[in-house]
Amino acid sequence: MKVYKFGGASVKDAAGIRNLAKIVSKEKENLVVVVSAFGKTTNALEKVLKAWMEGDKSYKDHLDNIYSYHASIADELFPSGNSARGNIDNSFAKLREYLRSSKRSSFDFEYDQIVSYGEIWSTMIVAEYLRKSGINAAWVDIRKALLTDDRYRDANILWNESTSMIRAAFDFRKFPLYVTQGFIGSTAAGWSTTLGREGSDYTAAILANMLDAGSVTVWKDVPGVLNADPKWLNDARKMEEISYKEAVEMTFSGAKVIHPKTIKPLHNKNIPLHVRSFIDPDEPGTIVKADATLKKTMPVFIRKENQLLISILPRDFSFVMGDNLSRIFHTFIKHGIKVNLVEASAVAIDVCVDDERPKIESLLVDLETEYSALYNENTEMLTIRHYTPEAITRITSGREILLEQRMRSTVRFVVREGIASSLRSSQ
Ligand code: ADP
Ligand code: ASP
Ligand code: MG
Repeated sequence: MKVYKFGGASVKDAAGIRNLAKIVSKEKENLVVVVSAFGKTTNALEKVLKAWMEGDKSYKDHLDNIYSYHASIADELFPSGNSARGNIDNSFAKLREYLRSSKRSSFDFEYDQIVSYGEIWSTMIVAEYLRKSGINAAWVDIRKALLTDDRYRDANILWNESTSMIRAAFDFRKFPLYVTQGFIGSTAAGWSTTLGREGSDYTAAILANMLDAGSVTVWKDVPGVLNADPKWLNDARKMEEISYKEAVEMTFSGAKVIHPKTIKPLHNKNIPLHVRSFIDPDEPGTIVKADATLKKTMPVFIRKENQLLISILPRDFSFVMGDNLSRIFHTFIKHGIKVNLVEASAVAIDVCVDDERPKIESLLVDLETEYSALYNENTEMLTIRHYTPEAITRITSGREILLEQRMRSTVRFVVREGIASSLRSSQ
């Protein structure tokens, strides 16, 4: 069996869902089809949540817009009516009732209860459309089989508990094709959880691992994995195959084409990952696998925006590399802050993190008694794999470099945000 994953951009309208059905219908093997929320629905649900948490009644207008969007897609796909429309109506009614009657709990908990609806609605419509197209598709609510801990918004999979339930839920003796949600799971107590933004790629890899899939294909709006985000460098070129190591380094450094957590479950079972274009589905895309060869090594450019560069110094001038190191990192983990880059000297450590201000502020308060901290905001991290002098000049000329880290195959710069003149002239 294989796992296919379709992201929000591929299912943003009725035409996208028709295209999905066409791609899926060409596959001969059994399939699990993982689908994200339609278009920008997750962002829209975040707006509902924010307004509702603040007691602002405008949350209802935001929700009405999301409803109209889904209803219009369903009406276009099923002009003479269909059970999908009734299921969507019931599901929206359930969410409206939750918002009317529930007391507000912690932000992260409520986030997962509310934002998880996007994937439920999208998969209901997609499964029904596949059935209408003559495909024997079953819809699975993955929250009944994919258990996580209760770290809301960044939940960890309970692998042992989930594997047998996932195998029972996706039983190919019953159906050749299952449609299910990416991004969401549930606690043992039945509360919805989410795996982190853009987490549907990760779900596809988890299911592939648990079901021993032959391969995973993520269908994207790009021809494959390129040597840069084409929205940043317009001469970015496709790589035919890359290793798991290359992919994990790229995605960890900020290449948004695949969620960084996707690679480990695939690597562990040696399952290849295909990154293909839903716009040109006959093109082969990029294969991520163990024994990939970079035929001609080309520099790979990665940009991670919206970073904070924090310098932490022990107040008593003690060396940073001993107990201090574990204490500092323990505090980062406690606050759920992921470190993107580390550079240490005798009595200072510099770290680069995503600028998630409320979390960072409470981290700094926690460190305050023992450490002084300084930070640079509005920075970005630029990484070049397989760098050359020309590649470095291309993305750093005209930039203010705050930190540079050079390894054998990778160089990283933390620079002030802004577009360098050399980039502008090359576009
Ligand atoms: P999904 O629809 O599955 O959520 P994303 O939008 O998250 O897909 O990922 C696709 C996007 O990733 C592309 O539109 C592209 O702008 C961006 N991207 C960033 N880095 C790369 C890269 N190295 N190669 C290809 N695409 C990249
Ligand atoms: N819908 C979720 C998001 O937008 C998950 C995903 O698309 O991967 O983050
Ligand atoms: Mg995405």
